[in-house]
Amino acid sequence: MRFNLRGGLRHRWLLALLTALTLAGCAARHPGDPIKPGFNMYSKEQDIELGRQAAAEVRKQVQVVQNPELQNYIGAIGKKLAAQPEAGGYPYSFTLINEPSINAFALPGGPIFVNTGLIEAADNEAQVAGVLAHEIAHVALRHGTNQASKASLIQLPAVLAGMAIGQDSVVDQIAQIGLGFGVNSVILKYSRDAENQADALGTRILAEAGYNPIEMANFFEKLQEEGGSRPPQFLSSHPDPGNRVARVQAEIQALPASIPRDFRTSVGNFAHEKRLVAQLPKPRPREQTAERGHAPTEGPSGAMQTLRARTFEVARPAGWQAYGDQSSSTVTVAPSQGLVQTRTGASLGYGVVMSYYQPRDARNLGQATGELVNQLAGLDRSIQSRGNQRRVTVNGNRGLITTLYGQSPYGGAERLMLLTVPRPEGLFYMVFVAPDNRFEQLSAPFEQMVNSLTFRS
Ligand SMILES: [Zn+2]
Repeated sequence: MRFNLRGGLRHRWLLALLTALTLAGCAARHPGDPIKPGFNMYSKEQDIELGRQAAAEVRKQVQVVQNPELQNYIGAIGKKLAAQPEAGGYPYSFTLINEPSINAFALPGGPIFVNTGLIEAADNEAQVAGVLAHEIAHVALRHGTNQASKASLIQLPAVLAGMAIGQDSVVDQIAQIGLGFGVNSVILKYSRDAENQADALGTRILAEAGYNPIEMANFFEKLQEEGGSRPPQFLSSHPDPGNRVARVQAEIQALPASIPRDFRTSVGNFAHEKRLVAQLPKPRPREQTAERGHAPTEGPSGAMQTLRARTFEVARPAGWQAYGDQSSSTVTVAPSQGLVQTRTGASLGYGVVMSYYQPRDARNLGQATGELVNQLAGLDRSIQSRGNQRRVTVNGNRGLITTLYGQSPYGGAERLMLLTVPRPEGLFYMVFVAPDNRFEQLSAPFEQMVNSLTFRS
């Protein structure tokens, strides 16, 4: 009862906050109005630390260009922009990556990465500067941790690294496995509001550094037009808010009179830099990022520890990591090799997910479970039930255990053991996943978890 009350209050507080945020977002901003960072649970120092850790991960996974002249070139443009007061004084770094897709991204606190493909696609230096200024604006406005604050994620550095290099992150995938609960929203995919803000602040930074800000908008529009039905990667994380050129023009009009208007578009010998890019060695193909890894050869040690989620408590294998937000009701627990990078993202190959599913029109536990199984099969077409079910009692609640089969992301057959229990919050489920030939290892921990499960409401 006490929990219910507290949960209710907390919920209302959150609702009030969200309403306030929404209203704040609705207040029309006029060109030239100052822009302040939004709601954030992290400190600026944490932004910097998160960015530092994530950048180290990124550097392990990408091919940094080994040509000092090119690195200096990007660094010099970036430094000029980062020195402007609107950049917020973060420890910026600018790194060129040997990668032909058109992309650039910023991590919280300052590390910015640019693909060689972006230089190839740009018409002049001001366009490259435009992208950098836009990324700097995302850092200064703390959009990454603003999103993370809304999502309350742990394991952020790994997630950021995964997002940054354009893989659907582990967390994306967990969100899918968790069937779309709010916890796992994305971090480096900005909202259109954030895009407008970054364009506006970027305009200011570019103007102060002497670049023509309109080239930033021109470049984004060019990507949009040339992309057609297959827009470059950049636009999937920086969605087009529409009317970029007109909005940036309005921002330019509203710039303080103290900023000289003799903007430059062509600076230095951009054609020469482009030639250097063209002469770079071809990037090595990503070593089968689809490198599948192996399922853990041994099961969990047997030691368990208590996991407390918002609505339930459960004993979980002590050596495994918990992913997700402890205050929410979607948690994934897996050993480090349990999350498998695949070509299209990452999936859970060995571990357990717990969450709730909201049945649509099921009238009993069997039907609700059937709906959930269909959902799972919709996400992963290989999943099928062979009609193997047994009834159980969990913490005084009736439940159902269903065995499912599918294709393991490690290769070969997969087995899934699904527990479903009807609860006031929805259909609680816990699904254990492992390659079929390893599943025996998980039988004991599965039974232990099922027996330890207590609901808190
Ligand atoms: Zn952006």
